[in-house]
Amino acid sequence: MQQNIEGIGMTSQRTRDRLIERLRQEGIGNERVLEVMRTTPRHIFIDEAMSSRAYEDSSLPIGHGQTISQPYIVARMTEILLKNGIPDTVLEVGTGSGYQSAVLARLIPRVYTVERISALLQRARQCHQALKLHNIYTKHSDGSWGWPEKAPYPAIMVTAAPEQVPPSLLEQLTIGGRMVIPVGSVNGHQVLKLITRSDTGYDEKVLDAVRFVPLLDGSVR
Ligand code: SAH
Repeated sequence: MQQNIEGIGMTSQRTRDRLIERLRQEGIGNERVLEVMRTTPRHIFIDEAMSSRAYEDSSLPIGHGQTISQPYIVARMTEILLKNGIPDTVLEVGTGSGYQSAVLARLIPRVYTVERISALLQRARQCHQALKLHNIYTKHSDGSWGWPEKAPYPAIMVTAAPEQVPPSLLEQLTIGGRMVIPVGSVNGHQVLKLITRSDTGYDEKVLDAVRFVPLLDGSVR
């Protein structure tokens, strides 16, 4: 981790504050989520050459054909997951840059996160260490299978889009648990869904139209 956590110029606190104002205007209302995002440096999760764009509200490339999610989407998905209170654990599928897991780790006691590309996971871990976030547990694996050894989870967040909700993830949700997940085809229509498990089954709510990278099979170095 070579980048300065404090940030200067385009990565300074003032620039970050402007992003938070924008998220608020776009409808993010959870003050805890906004405060965590205001004080979590996003620029360290992306390549230094692009750090001047870290506090724009856009997704950015992180290599390996993957992207760091747009801040609005990070805020929105986090807010949805926390709507009924703070769960004690969360499973994230698709660690990517590690930014979303860092935001979750400052709100939720334990964060489990699974990534299929080993190189990305290694870099994400370095960022978590630099920020002294010791409550994030990572696994290099195909996250469609969840992380069964640590299940069940009161909260699951999927940050890559499958065409259908993976059955293993449904099984690993607690009764009363919530999952936010983008579902749809790669270049076609994707929607963000909120799935809630009850003692009789699953309730599904369609939220926003979204665009995520696809959830892919298997794991790679
Ligand atoms: N939450 C991330 C978003 C990264 S983009 C962030 O904050 O940066 C989605 C990530 O999901 C990519 O890194 C991609 O490699 C990963 N991914 C795709 N399919 C996966 C799978 N089956 N299991 C685990 N990770 C997967």
